[in-house]
Amino acid sequence: MTNAPPPPTSAAQSARTILTRLHEVMASRVNAQGKLNQVVGIIGECLDSEVCSIYLLRDGALELYATRGLNQEAVHVTRLGLGEGLVGTIAEHIETLNLDEAAAHPDFSYRPETGEELFHSFAGVPIIRRERAVGVLCVQHAEPRRYDDIEIETLQTVAMVLSELITNADLVDTTARIDAAATDQSAQRLTGQKLVDGMGAGIAVFHQPRITIEHTVADDIEAERHRVYAAFDKMREQIDRMASQAEFGVGGEHEEVLETYKMFAYDEGWSRRINEAIDSGLTAEAAIERVQQRTRMRMRQIDDPLLRDRMHDLEDLSNRLIRIVSGQMGTAAQMGLRQDSILIARNLGPAELLEYDRRRLKGVVLEEGSLTAHVIIVARAMGVPVVGRVRDVRSSIREGDLLLLDAGNGTVNVRPSQAVQDAFDAKLEASQKRRASLATLRDLPAVTKDGVAIELMINAGLREDVAALDLTGASGIGLFRTEFQFLVSATLPQRERQQRLYRDVLDAAGDRPVIFRTVDIGGDKALPYMNVEDAEREENPAMGWRALRLALEREGLLKVQARALMEAAAGRTLNVMFPMVSEPWEYEAARDLFVRQREWLKQRGKKLPAAVRYGAMLEVPGLIETLDLMLPHLDFLSIGTNDLTQFLFAADRAHPRLAERYDWLSPTVMRYLRRVVTTVSGSKVALGVCGEMGGRPLEAMALLGAGIERLSITPAGVGPVKAMIRSLDLGALRADIPAILAYPSPDPRGQYRAWATKHGVDLGD
Ligand code: PEP
Ligand code: MG
Repeated sequence: MTNAPPPPTSAAQSARTILTRLHEVMASRVNAQGKLNQVVGIIGECLDSEVCSIYLLRDGALELYATRGLNQEAVHVTRLGLGEGLVGTIAEHIETLNLDEAAAHPDFSYRPETGEELFHSFAGVPIIRRERAVGVLCVQHAEPRRYDDIEIETLQTVAMVLSELITNADLVDTTARIDAAATDQSAQRLTGQKLVDGMGAGIAVFHQPRITIEHTVADDIEAERHRVYAAFDKMREQIDRMASQAEFGVGGEHEEVLETYKMFAYDEGWSRRINEAIDSGLTAEAAIERVQQRTRMRMRQIDDPLLRDRMHDLEDLSNRLIRIVSGQMGTAAQMGLRQDSILIARNLGPAELLEYDRRRLKGVVLEEGSLTAHVIIVARAMGVPVVGRVRDVRSSIREGDLLLLDAGNGTVNVRPSQAVQDAFDAKLEASQKRRASLATLRDLPAVTKDGVAIELMINAGLREDVAALDLTGASGIGLFRTEFQFLVSATLPQRERQQRLYRDVLDAAGDRPVIFRTVDIGGDKALPYMNVEDAEREENPAMGWRALRLALEREGLLKVQARALMEAAAGRTLNVMFPMVSEPWEYEAARDLFVRQREWLKQRGKKLPAAVRYGAMLEVPGLIETLDLMLPHLDFLSIGTNDLTQFLFAADRAHPRLAERYDWLSPTVMRYLRRVVTTVSGSKVALGVCGEMGGRPLEAMALLGAGIERLSITPAGVGPVKAMIRSLDLGALRADIPAILAYPSPDPRGQYRAWATKHGVDLGD
């Protein structure tokens, strides 16, 4: 934050005028209702608004508490449920509405007693307390018009101050209301999404003891400004210190995560917005919270999960800043975990998670969270199970409750009964036993009962994942998703950084092969730093400008990656694989580009790989029609069943409703795979599968039956799949497969399972 404040913006000035008058109202001796009546008058007058109304949450509904411009008879009579009408919608979704024609909105609900039919335009903002709406502030005009940004900003700032006023005046009993449900002592089962697999038990610990902002209106703006300067300095110091002490060593993704943090911590735009909020008359805490609220609201409207994740990082820092400025520094991490604990947070920043004692941290429950978030990458590296997108956390869990977390099925049992605890303990014990017994398979070969050797490799993408090679005894990395480095980075990774990662991975793998897949970005894996024009936004990103399509057009990107890979693999064998090949020429073009880069490096006297082997992914179904033309030029082919099945069935792989609809074991997939095996057989091309399908024992068994002998799977799947392989009579299965494919049962999964049971195959269940 620079020390010379910019002149206040007109938004700030307009808010400050109102806040100064509100300050006087708050300090006056008038009763609470009287204060609200004055407030609507002041806001209406200052914003030149015909109507200004305040609705507050009472007994589960939003009640009109004060109005200027609507019929006074409606006060304490008009009530709207959460989600009902415009006011209820604003409160339910904690969103701002700005409409030139209120009645045209689908949620509009006409209340004749208010006399509002005279007014066309409408703007409303939520009044928020502890991240929940406790009321709504709105303005209306007869003339149909949109409110400008300054007016909306002003309303939002005023809503913050109102939140303090109504709490101090006990107008809504926020504490009782918010915590009411939490007094329920009964056992509860919450569900969410598995973000990091695993089980854990411990007492509930809230990451952030709630910080309540006591004062929102500043007495002395300059003093507030200095408090924020000091807090920024302290926060930057903390982040710099954390970056130099990062537990996971230098050069990992964590370094990149902290780089993102640094970028935000030093971001002038952020500090400027806080400064502007202080200009409008808010205290330092309220100004930071005000900017954070605005960010949260924007975040809700953003569809891009990656950008949303970066916003969470910013929110993490914002919380830190409020804690510093208010002197309420203690997160649960700083107070120390005293026993086995499950951490609860709305969202967590990776740096915040790193502060916890790993020995006591048994799991994390997030109200938000997504698979690609930085914090999830960190949690996976720490080996801490995480369940995300759990609703009603704050109303269902209290500090100190016993929690049983089973990320595998996305559940959190709160205050479990003895029976639930016993079942959980039994499952945990069984899974620990199973893991221990699978660990004994680590050094045994992946050979079927009848002597067929299967190549069992792992999928990876992060530096930390490489450790799984030794832990699982896998024979190599069959898919290294290079785009992960791009996804966790705040900026496009330069060649040196890419090269460093690839070299580290090859060093760690030693003699074991690593197949590097070139970047599979674009589409839904959009990079925030790759500017995409609005006009270029895609309706169907999975089928859009992604992976090789993008890489061949942004040649510079692929060239840099080619050189980084070649130099990293100097003196060794480099395996390169291209994603989303749809027609043979795309593969040819990509391979030519690599060959040219090899030449380029050679001319400059660089040390080259001893050999380069090229492969393609088969994940676009149409490629099968021209596969024979590509085979002579390929060293290996890997079937990406994740994308393949989404395109075979035209079913979005990330769509929760479709997740269970089509089965990998359906005749559609199995016959297709069989056709690929037949096409490739007789060529020298090594054929494998690297989609999630191969990581499950039953599916892996079917793949082997169809003729696949090379699997690259998630590390956690290696033990169970190896156990299946070692118990399988592959000859017997292959003898039965033609009949299974020719006469599929309506329940193909049942059909394979019955076969496995009959032949004593170990499926781990
Ligand atoms: C696949 O599509 O099966 C695959 C392995 O690639 P990704 O999951 O990275 O798209
Ligand atoms: Mg894919």
